[in-house]
Amino acid sequence: MTVIYKRVALIGLGLIASSMAHAMRAYGLAGEIVGYARSPETRMVALDIGLCDRVCDTAAEAVADADLVVLAVPVGAMGPLAEEIGPYLMAGATVTDVGSVKQAVIAAVAPHVPKGVHFIAGHPLAGTEHSGPRSGFATLFQNRWWLLTPADDTDPVAIARLRSLCEGMGANVDTMDAPHHDLVLAVTSHTPHLIAYTMVGVADDLRRVTDSEVIRYSAAGFRDFTRIAASDPTMWRDVFLSNKEATLDILGRFTEELFALQRAIRLGDGDHLHAYFTRTRAIRRGIIEAGQDTSAPDFGRSTPAAAPAGN
Ligand code: NAP
Repeated sequence: MTVIYKRVALIGLGLIASSMAHAMRAYGLAGEIVGYARSPETRMVALDIGLCDRVCDTAAEAVADADLVVLAVPVGAMGPLAEEIGPYLMAGATVTDVGSVKQAVIAAVAPHVPKGVHFIAGHPLAGTEHSGPRSGFATLFQNRWWLLTPADDTDPVAIARLRSLCEGMGANVDTMDAPHHDLVLAVTSHTPHLIAYTMVGVADDLRRVTDSEVIRYSAAGFRDFTRIAASDPTMWRDVFLSNKEATLDILGRFTEELFALQRAIRLGDGDHLHAYFTRTRAIRRGIIEAGQDTSAPDFGRSTPAAAPAGN
């Protein structure tokens, strides 16, 4: 592989940034990888495990002379960080982010990006429920989508270069506008996470189901909810606060469908239930055919190659 950026600054050193560091190194995509994290503990871990070539004590120091700057912090932290690094960005550099919401990030970051610096917002649809600098791995982005939401007037050469980096890390790249991204993700990721959080909360509230029963009998579906509901609380708080409209829209539709199913159960309308479940089963088949999950029983849990999920 060829080096795509001479110096990449990773701002935030959690799951996504550490996976990028491993992937860029494994595939020889960056000349130098410089990192910054807010806490001295995370910076220390990054140094200990050799995550980056250099770890800096300030974000401003990390972005100096970087031709790519990646904001990999919770969505709510992007704006203040962009303000902090804005004056230190190199002319001609590209700034991107990996936040799970795009309109709010663009509104918070774009005003701080100086003229002559390209800002291309992005979102890798890849993740796990783990976080922190030790949680990353080089293959996280393999065959996952990486969505870019550039403004209409963004330099196409800068977009092509960022696309090459994402593809170099194994991702499939697509571009779309930010409002569309936020609506799609509200359906495919944000609302399902909220439902998982709710379901696990309901089980926890049910005093008749003891803790040990919840754990012992969790194989049947509930276990998958608990995996999703173990995702980072800060990240997901920020996702819902910043993708408010789209999430509320999808939640409204979800509630209507739920009431319709509730009514079908009450009325004993088996045809309705059967038709509904047949339709949803076809969606699962589509996901497997698109190579976005495994068809192995139990999500391939017994095999080591189970695909990671979550974003
Ligand atoms: P993570 O593992 O929790 O790491 C977050 C990093 O951000 C840490 O280095 C943390 O620093 C830093 N940070 C947290 N709050 C900060 C603040 N207020 N100011 C400055 N730095 C701060 O997170 P992640 O999973 O990599 O997520 C990073 C971004 O990727 C988020 O915007 C998320 O929406 C997006 N994303 C996540 C996933 C996923 O599945 N996890 C998937 C796709 C996109 P310390 O360690 O020093 O606290």
